[in-house]
Amino acid sequence: MYVSSQQNQYLKQFRQVMTHPFFTGECPQCEQQLQLVDRVIGQSHCPNCGWTDEAED
Ligand SMILES: [Zn+2]
Repeated sequence: MYVSSQQNQYLKQFRQVMTHPFFTGECPQCEQQLQLVDRVIGQSHCPNCGWTDEAED
């Protein structure tokens, strides 16, 4: 199936949102339970493995 890079990007972002600790309550990388203050979208970070959802630009 052909997937354009734009669709790919969208799917990637969609998957990121669906696994975001804001919804799941845990780090998508190490499954550490995150406190509410560490689950804000755009400011999330995991004190256990260092995962972060901060934008790269
Ligand atoms: Zn983690």
